[in-house]
Amino acid sequence: MELEDSLDCLKGIGEKTKQVFQKTGIENLRDLITHYPRTYEAYEPPKEIRALSEGEVAAVAVQLTAPPATRYIRGLSISTALCSDGNEVMAATWFNMPFLKNQLRSGVPYIFRGRIKTKGNRLLMEQPAVFHVEQYKGLSGALLPIYTLVKGLTGQMIQKAVRQVLAHKSLLTDYLPEEIRSRYQLSEYNFAIEQIHFPKDYHAMLLARKRLVFDEFFFFILQLRSLKSVREKAANHFQIKKSEKTQVLLNNLPYKLTNAQLRVWNIMEQEMTGDTVMARLIQGDVGSGKTIVSILALLMAADSGYQGALMVPTEVLARQHYTSLQELFAKNGFSFEVVLLTGSMTAKQKREAYAKIASGEASVVVGTHALIQEKVIYQNLALVITDEQHRFGVRQRELLSMKGEMPHTIVMSATPIPRTLAVILYGDLDISVIDEMPANRLPIKNCVVNTGYRKKAYEFIKNQVAQGHQAYVICPMVDESEAIEAEDVINYTEVLRRELPDGICVEYLHGKMKPSQKNEIMGRFLANEIQVLVSTTVVEVGVNVPNATVMMIENAERFGLAQLHQLRGRVGRGCDQSYCIFLHAIEGKAIRERLDILCKSNDGFEIANRDMQLRGPGDLFGVRQSGMLDFTLADIYTDAEALQQANEAAGIILSEDPELKEPGHQRLRTHFDLLIRHQSDHLNL
Ligand code: ADP
Ligand code: MG
Repeated sequence: MELEDSLDCLKGIGEKTKQVFQKTGIENLRDLITHYPRTYEAYEPPKEIRALSEGEVAAVAVQLTAPPATRYIRGLSISTALCSDGNEVMAATWFNMPFLKNQLRSGVPYIFRGRIKTKGNRLLMEQPAVFHVEQYKGLSGALLPIYTLVKGLTGQMIQKAVRQVLAHKSLLTDYLPEEIRSRYQLSEYNFAIEQIHFPKDYHAMLLARKRLVFDEFFFFILQLRSLKSVREKAANHFQIKKSEKTQVLLNNLPYKLTNAQLRVWNIMEQEMTGDTVMARLIQGDVGSGKTIVSILALLMAADSGYQGALMVPTEVLARQHYTSLQELFAKNGFSFEVVLLTGSMTAKQKREAYAKIASGEASVVVGTHALIQEKVIYQNLALVITDEQHRFGVRQRELLSMKGEMPHTIVMSATPIPRTLAVILYGDLDISVIDEMPANRLPIKNCVVNTGYRKKAYEFIKNQVAQGHQAYVICPMVDESEAIEAEDVINYTEVLRRELPDGICVEYLHGKMKPSQKNEIMGRFLANEIQVLVSTTVVEVGVNVPNATVMMIENAERFGLAQLHQLRGRVGRGCDQSYCIFLHAIEGKAIRERLDILCKSNDGFEIANRDMQLRGPGDLFGVRQSGMLDFTLADIYTDAEALQQANEAAGIILSEDPELKEPGHQRLRTHFDLLIRHQSDHLNL
């Protein structure tokens, strides 16, 4: 058995099961053991009823005060029981489990575990799991892994498969030098993998996590430091000159650049005409206006006879940038050709684009990672830009740079990262921050509400649409599994169509749709043919529809604050007053407190900081963070210390042995090479 072996070397996994695993990206045993749990279920000691608070999941030791009663409502059975812990009484309800009536007995001690709600002034536990006291004791302390699933794949299946791999201890020899492990008190790799999947207790899980987070950062930094651009600051061999056209474009804009935009643009102008090649990160909060700055740079390169490429993470965004570039150039009478290149284009369209790129006819190329395909040959690429860099890996950025000969590089990101960390995470880049919002913006008005407010929210959307505006509704997630994500969006759209007047066009957008469908929907939303867009978080990245003034987010409690801030950034992009409605489906003081941070601040940096202070290690799981810089477990905010340590460790090792050639680093080298190869395989080029 080798970690590179395909899954079907495991018992109980045949062709069909293998395919189900593949849907989550698990191809071989290594993928399997690094498919870490999304969160855990803990069986904590039972609490007293008086100590329970609304919204929490808890266990109580109770006896029934009367046998359960079952009612039927529209084919749904609801069983209710009253129970007592000796002091207080609470109710418990179960849907569609009428058989409980015969199983639960009065006078027998049980442990009920479930989510607490209030009804009137009585506490209610919904759908609790029922345990005998001894049974619960056996579980106590341990954590049960909860995995991200797809249709057909169960947690049981993953657990069984992982256990089989873990039984072969010899598979996983630790690759980190002993010295590094003891310096930073990192657990051994086998222990970490075993305990991240099946923690014997909370402490063991944290130890395991600490080690694996360190590894993620460590290899990321090794990779970063092996980039060409880090090793040498290349001479600028392009003859790029300042362009009067950039001034023309600026004069014809309907707005003036902010001071921050101007400052960044001036630096870029200087660097592109300077002696060494530009390599710069542009950080700026959502809506700070990063796009226009990059367009100026593309225009300047084009006017000097060179090509520039702009790579973005989604088709929708590629098309949006492409259209605005074309419009801007046309409006100003510039004849530079802009070419679009995305994965969903037909073979013929792609061939035409390739030809224009190769001949130099195309001055600006905009696209998704289709831009770094082997087939794409540029004629004289002098400037490469990646937008929303946090969605790309280091490798993709490097591949784009390699399409030219040491081209100028701009990387744009809305992820607010403190400078000390940015220096590590973008070690090869100089950093500029656009720290000012356009002046015409009215601050977004926010509210945090529960589901009781839903009808009012619909009413509000109706009124905004009547005033000519548009709205996004981020759909509730019934379940974490991707398979039913689409279903949820479609069902919710149906509901909204019934709730809103006929004249309002409601459409939906989700990740499983074909790119051409997504493009069509976004196009119609931009043209205000669609007034309300129901969507999953696919709209989160970069989309710009300034006429949209309402963002309503269902199940806001499930998202990380950074991601909610990004979502909110889809509105407030024009001069009209915009609104964001954070709707939480679960009540709870902690949930409100967290969401209230968003109401009080509109500043991405501050929000990230407050979020970090509020979240302890116990909250590391359960809340969705958007895939930040490709890390799986690691969180750049809460794991900032690990990031610093990994950076220090990489520095120590590389200073002694830059190529990782020493015998003591052999396993490290092998593992690193494997990771890089694995990454390349997953670039889908
Ligand atoms: P982001 O930084 O999130 O990528 P965009 O570049 O998409 O933001 O800009 C958001 C919106 O703000 C766009 O509609 C853009 O035209 C507009 N915008 C950019 N700069 C300014 C400015 N200085 N004044 C007013 N509006 C601006
Ligand atoms: Mg943007």
